[in-house]
Order: sequence, then structure tokens, then C-alpha cells
Amino acid sequence: MTPGRRWLGVGVVITVAVIALALFLGRPDPRVLPVDPTNHFTADFGETSSLYSGVKYAFWATATLLRWGTLIGLLVLGGGRVLTTIMGRVSNRSSVIAFGTMAILLAVLALVTLPLSYASGYRIEHAFGLSTQTRWAWLLDYVRVRGFWILVYSAAAAGFLAAIGRWPRRGWVVAAGAGIVIAVFGTIAAPRIIDPLFHDFTPLADRELESEIFELGDTAGIDIQRVRVMDASRRTRRLNAYVTGIGATRQVVLYDNLVANAPREELLLVVAHEIGHQRERHVTRGLISTFPGIVLGAWALSALAGWRARRDRMLDGPADPAGLPLLWLAVSVALFLSSPISATISRRMEAQADWISLELTRDPDTFVAAERRLAEINLSWITPPEPVVRWFYSHPPVLNRIGMAEYWRTVREDPAPSSRSAD
Ligand SMILES: [Zn+2]
Repeated sequence: MTPGRRWLGVGVVITVAVIALALFLGRPDPRVLPVDPTNHFTADFGETSSLYSGVKYAFWATATLLRWGTLIGLLVLGGGRVLTTIMGRVSNRSSVIAFGTMAILLAVLALVTLPLSYASGYRIEHAFGLSTQTRWAWLLDYVRVRGFWILVYSAAAAGFLAAIGRWPRRGWVVAAGAGIVIAVFGTIAAPRIIDPLFHDFTPLADRELESEIFELGDTAGIDIQRVRVMDASRRTRRLNAYVTGIGATRQVVLYDNLVANAPREELLLVVAHEIGHQRERHVTRGLISTFPGIVLGAWALSALAGWRARRDRMLDGPADPAGLPLLWLAVSVALFLSSPISATISRRMEAQADWISLELTRDPDTFVAAERRLAEINLSWITPPEPVVRWFYSHPPVLNRIGMAEYWRTVREDPAPSSRSAD
């Protein structure tokens, strides 16, 4: 078989496996009853929320195409070589040239998409009453967050090229191993080292509420360990909560907006959902679910770098940083194409956490009230098209979540009071 045919075969097998996996994982949840949207949301809200979501997706799609277009343009015009030549004047060390080339490349992409990010992240958020930021605060955030990730990705790119340069045949194994170690370390360190770079976290001021939260954890048989409140209101009116960290760094984080605006029983319901994540070890399982992607990605990128180096005489081997625009384009497209898998894994975990929150609180009315409040304030799309859900949604759409509470009612809530004591 010619190498071209073999690659085609590998591509087809991976594509079919990915689609089969996404379809298998994405099969409808039997624990969801159909829900009439008009019972929960006004037609006006339905229109506003679909307008908001439609505009946000349109901006996202435009920015993605612009990013890919810029990378293709750089590829065609030999931009990678221009960047390495600039870096070659700064240093003659290959790791510095690789780091600098990637950093400039990512800075160019951040600059090219800045107007779209500004329109989507600042103007539209304000137009729909979600943002609480000033223009300059938004811009400072953009620079800080992008700057941080540019440093991280540039270091990763330099490390990857060093590995495949040092060990041309098996360098990808070293890169994959290092990638997994970094993912594990990053997940453990995130709550204490990475997140505090961008947000302030404080203990819960309401001690009574805190002890109720810990009691709820005891009921679920888990040690909550730590609850922190994030200063989200400096940026947004959105309500949210999440779990993060592994082992000693494990914690539940509540948005200050949620603590300030949600009634106590709804707040506890949200916490019960986060307890569900902790009990099922979703952070650890989510981390492990990225390992096959890291290994496959390292192998595919190494193969792509080798293929290009054999074809393109301008490149000085697979580890030449001038090849980075193509590699980054491949990473970006692969992340987009694998999105249905990561989104589906996430949606299943979220549904599981919802179910546990219902089992723990046994209060479907509060569950529905909390879902409605979150959807209304966060402008959640009430009736997103199924393909959008499958491709992008990390959480089940709000009507599915309400539908799960309705299902829970039918199987757990006994209509006859006499039999309730036997439950
Ligand atoms: Zn969740």
C-alpha cells in the first residue's frame, strides 16, 4: 500500500470511530420527559434567548473561519519562515526560536480576531444586559487571559518540536507522555495557581449556609473539603457554580451572583449538583477522557510534521518551527471536529449530576425553579437545534433538564401518601 492510501485508511477509520462514539454516547437519555416550553418561558424570552445565542454563534463561527483563514494565508505566503527569521535575529537557540515563533503566531491570531472578540464578548454582552465590565476592564482581561495561554501553548509547542527533533521516530511518545503529565498537573494546580490569576476567591461569608452545604455533602457520603465564592459580578451578571481540582485542591466554587441572587433552597440545589460531580469523580474522569486525544494528537501532529518536511524542501526537518502554522491549524481543526465527543461526554456527566441533585434534595419543584432562574439570567437558548446541542453543548438544554425533574417525579414521588413511609 502506498503511504497516501495508508493515511487515507487511517483517516477513514478514525473518522468512523469518532462518529460512532459520538452517536453512541449521544443517544437520548430515557430519563427525560418531553416538556412544553410555554409552561416555563414566555415567547418573548424564547425570542430574545435565540437571538442572543444565534448572534453569539455567528460571531464564534466568523472568528473561527478568520483564524483558519489567517493560518492558511500564512501557510501559502510562507509566514512561518518569516516568523522564524525574525526570531533567529533574537536568539540562535532552537527552543527560543520555536517558543518565540509560536508566541508571535498566537499573538497575530489574537490581534486579528480582537474586533470580533470585542463585539461578541463586550458589545453584545452589554446589549443583552449580561456584562458588568467597562471597556478597559474587558480589554485588560482579554490581554491577561490570552497572554497567559500564549505563554502556555508556546512552551508546549517548543517542547513538542524539541521532542520530535531529538527523537524523530518516537518523539511523539515522549510528547504524549509529557502532555498527560501537564494535563494532570494543570488539573491539580488549576484551583490554587491558575484560576487565582484571573479571579478572586473568598470563603463563604454565611457560616450557616456553609454548614448546610457540608451537611449536604455528608448526606451524599462525600467530604466537600472547601467552598469558595468567585468575584464573577465584576464581569458578568451570569449565575454559575462548578467543581474543580483533584485530591487536596478539590473545591466547590460558587459565583458571588448566585450566592447574592438565588434563594437558599435553589443555591443548595446547585450545590447538590456539584456534589454529584464530586461523588462521581467527574473532574478525574474528565481528565482521563482527554488522554486518548492527547496520545492520538501527539502521534498525528508528529506524522503531519514528518509528511510536510518530506514534501517541503524549504523546511529544515519536521522540528522546524516554520512548520508551526500548519500544525496549529491542524490542532484547531481537530479540536473543532472532536467537539461532539467532548461535549457529549460532558453532557452525560451533567445529566448524572442533575440526577444526583434530585436524589439528594428530593425537591423537583426547586430543581425546576433553579433551572428556570439560571436559564433566564444566563439567556439560555430554550430550543437549540439538535445538531448544535450535539456539537457544542456541554450541558443538556434547559428543557431536557426540566424534563429530567419531571421524570424523577414520576418514578420517585409516590402519589399515595400511605405508601410514602415505606419509601
Ligand atoms: Zn455541572
